[in-house]
Amino acid sequence: MHKHARTSTSVLVALAALAGAVTGVFAFSSGIEANTELTYARVAAVPKAEPLVLGSQDEEDEAPAVISHLTLARYNVSKRLMPIADAARRITKKPFGIEIHPETSPVPNDKFDGFHVGVDFETFPDEQEVAVPIRAICRGPLLFKSQAKGYGGVAVQGCVIDGELVSVIYGHLNLPSIAAEPGQLIVPGQYVGDLGKGHSEETDGVRKHLHLGIRKGRTPDIRGYIKEPEEMVEFIDAAAYLGLR
Ligand SMILES: [Zn+2]
Repeated sequence: MHKHARTSTSVLVALAALAGAVTGVFAFSSGIEANTELTYARVAAVPKAEPLVLGSQDEEDEAPAVISHLTLARYNVSKRLMPIADAARRITKKPFGIEIHPETSPVPNDKFDGFHVGVDFETFPDEQEVAVPIRAICRGPLLFKSQAKGYGGVAVQGCVIDGELVSVIYGHLNLPSIAAEPGQLIVPGQYVGDLGKGHSEETDGVRKHLHLGIRKGRTPDIRGYIKEPEEMVEFIDAAAYLGLR
């Protein structure tokens, strides 16, 4: 009886420690926590990718037929499919690796601090009240979707880039609009979700824009900023991957 009680306690302690560790890395910026422990359980349980009826299963860079040719042209400015139409015109504030401090940030009243380990795609003035769809840049399953501090809604897709497993982070989305469920395959060009409304809980209060991060590995680390520049090697510049620089 005593032995059993001890075992249960240690299991609980281990679970608590795991939850704590996961909570730490789920924050967009270090020092901010997000309540996403349950999501991690789903990440761990993600099954092998099931083919979806949407889109091509075989062509690595072919968009699903649901996108019109006209739309596709706006997403297809290099050999890669872009996450957002007119992508090349939108990287105007925070490229990959820029060091951000609130007092010197290109974004007024910025709350973030550290090295930016994603690429920000800005929205245009006439897009503030309309849906701005975000599309997948690579092929792989949705790992999870969640509401997270610093992001609002976020979708994370598992892909392989240069032979390496990566996690692609689509940040500041309207969470209910994220169409896929964890484990479902998403092909390049497939609709992921809409950008969240600016300065609302859909974006955790920030302007309407896409934060696109590519992190090596498939740990549940969705940080958008890091404190130590040495950690930069764990991330890939999405603009370089997309051929935008
Ligand atoms: Zn960002």
